[in-house]
This record gives sequence, C-alpha cells and structure tokens, in this order.
Amino acid sequence: MSVSRELKTFEGSVEEVVLKTAMTDLVTYDFANLVIEACNALKPVSFVNADVLIQSVYLEESKEKIYAADSLEDLKPDSTNVEYTFVAYDQLFNTGIVKELIDHGIGELREEWKPAVLAILKFLRDRKYHQEALSTMKGVGDEAEMTAVMVQHLFSHLTAGNDYVIDNRSKNLPKYCPCEMENCKAMIKNGCTALGSLQTWHGNADIILNQNIAVSLIECPSKEKNLCIETDDKFEEENLSDPIQKDKDEEAGPSSPKRICKDDNDNEEKETQSQQMIDQVIAQTITNAFSQVSKTPALSGWLIPTFGCALDHVIALLYDPKNDVLLQCVDKIPIWGFYGLYLPSIVQIWMFLNFTVFTIKDLADDYELKRSNFHVLAKYRLEDYRKIKPGKAFNPTYDCDYYSDVLIRMRKKGKKAHKKLAEH
Ligand SMILES: [Zn+2]
Repeated sequence: MSVSRELKTFEGSVEEVVLKTAMTDLVTYDFANLVIEACNALKPVSFVNADVLIQSVYLEESKEKIYAADSLEDLKPDSTNVEYTFVAYDQLFNTGIVKELIDHGIGELREEWKPAVLAILKFLRDRKYHQEALSTMKGVGDEAEMTAVMVQHLFSHLTAGNDYVIDNRSKNLPKYCPCEMENCKAMIKNGCTALGSLQTWHGNADIILNQNIAVSLIECPSKEKNLCIETDDKFEEENLSDPIQKDKDEEAGPSSPKRICKDDNDNEEKETQSQQMIDQVIAQTITNAFSQVSKTPALSGWLIPTFGCALDHVIALLYDPKNDVLLQCVDKIPIWGFYGLYLPSIVQIWMFLNFTVFTIKDLADDYELKRSNFHVLAKYRLEDYRKIKPGKAFNPTYDCDYYSDVLIRMRKKGKKAHKKLAEH
C-alpha cells in the first residue's frame, strides 16, 4: 500500500487524536548554544578519550563544582560577565507544521511529511505493545539486550522505513529481540556503525538510525560495573578493539594503577564518568554530523542530532558543520510518565529523528548564534573532518607508535636551535 493510501486509513482515527493531543502538550525545550573553549580534536583519539571543555563551564565554575555536578544542567552560572545564547524551541523547530497537524490533522499533509507522520501513527497504534516490551527491560542489566529492545520497540518505529543498524561489534548482541513479548522475536539488524577516521575523533556509535543519527547508550547498569576496577580502555566503547585504539587509550588517560587507586572513591569515579560521557557525546555529535554531510551534501546547513540514551531518558545534541553551530537540549527528555510512555516526549524524539521535516535549516542565517569554535580549534584537521565517511572501518595495520614516529621525523628534518642574540 502506498504511503498516502495507508495514511488515509488513519484519518479520523484514535491515533490521529492522540498525536494531536501529544503535539499540543509538547514540552518546549530550550537549546544551549555551546562554545568550546578547548578540545583534543587535533589528536586522533577515540570518542571515549575525547576531551571537550565548554566555555561557560570553564569561565563560571570552579573545578570542584564541575566535578561535583552530575551533568551540565546541574551547573548554575551566576551570570555575571559571560553572555549566554540559547535557542528557543520555536526558533529551532518549524512550529508551522506542528500547528498544521494540531489544527487540521493528517488530511492535508505535504508529500514530504507523509512518511514520517505515517511512522508515528503506526507506533501510536501499537504503543501499548511497545510499552509493555520496553517495560520488561527495566531490570535488565545487559547492554546489548537493552540496546536491542530500545531500538526494536522505540527508535526504529519513529523513522520512516524502520531503518537502523546496531554496532555489530557489540558483545552478546542477540539475533532476535530479547523482550519478553511472546509474539515479538523480531530479527535484530546489525552492521558497521564506525564514525570518524584515524586522523580524527573516531569510534563506533551503539546505533545508527535512519542512516544519519548516532545514538550511544549512557548510564547502562552493566557499563557502570565495567568501570569499577578494570582499565578504562573498555569504558563505554569496549567493543573498539583495534590496535590503535588500545594504544591511544593508554597514552590519553591515567595509567591503570592510578585508576585502581581511585576505586575506594566511587563518587569521584562517577563524576569522572559523567564528564567523560558528555565529552564523548559531544565528540560523537560533531564527528557524526561531518560524516553525514560528507555522505549526503544535501544535509549541509542542518543541525544533525545525536542522542545519548539511558533507560528512562535521552539527551540530545545537534551540530551543523557548515555553520559550526553546536546545540544541546538543556533538559533531559524523559521517556516515561506516570501512566507509561510519555507521549509528548516520544513525539519530541520523533521530531528530532525526522529533523529535515521538523527543524529549520541554516538557523545561523536568521539568528545571531555563537560559533562552537570547533572550526578554529580543529583548524589543522578540518579537511580530515570534512572528508570522513560513515561506516568506514579503521585500518588495523595502522602504525601505533604515532608520537615516536613524529619525533624522529622532527629530528631528521629539524634545524638546530639558534643561540639567542644578546639583548641591548
Ligand atoms: Zn521485542
């Protein structure tokens, strides 16, 4: 059945009413316009070792406060001398479409909106089933199972075409959906989710949705377990097993003995995790956006979303490589409400996933936004970032001893330091 004909079957349906209500009840999030003070984008490290310092955090907060905060939103700048910019919900999103759907329902949609609208209506039709499947994993501690159920029963249904791929290097990735619904047993699709290159930040997303949106799991119980004693090399992306990865990890983080010393201080470890998690998601957001624009030049000018996903919420960041604009949704988006899935949030996530329908392109042309500073900080690698393609596996034969190699070359090509002239 064609999309238009299938959509017609939903006209006047309960799902259409539910969608209109959820759109009316949307929580209108603001988006912080992030400026990066410093980062290690010039160093070809994995996402897990990405180091990003956001300007407002640097300027307003003491190190102690930063380490004591669970997330960026817990920081309360006293707004004395730093100018902050935020993008309001109705600046980023095309509220015209929202109003159209609320006022007129699904009867008079533009052709290009139809596949996305059909996807959410089908999800809403089966929402009780998906809700039950999702609720069965609340006590699950296995990362691969959690990923599979979240994708199978939430994310994939919010994009047209059910298009997704889970990292095929995930340990214990099930072949079939591991939810407890008797008649599910859906086949789980896996493949290459590699992002970046060996010249840039790189690594694997846990999930790629719709061939353009990266999702990484955050705050998964099993991940917290991994962090206790073992090396941080395995933190977050323990599937990254290429030789370069291991070497870079060793040079970038504290040595293993130092990590073990920290084990008697769980809070400190947790705080570090939180910082690393945000840095990792920012690096992944930027790298994914460059990859997608490189693959599909028509995406240039859009703020391309990346999600961090936990059991009960998602965080959303967006990056536009053309205009160098980085936004972060200032609030976590809760997945659950008092009575099950929180539909205004589900609709919000759906709008992010279909960003070419619902968000405004080239936002920086219409508003005075702060550049993220990434183009300046990564100046000498910017061409490498622009060239990266998604899904390109890394070359395992890459020479790991990068720094020694460079130092030897410097010595061979260098000039002996001149003696200073005497000052007069
Ligand atoms: Zn299932």
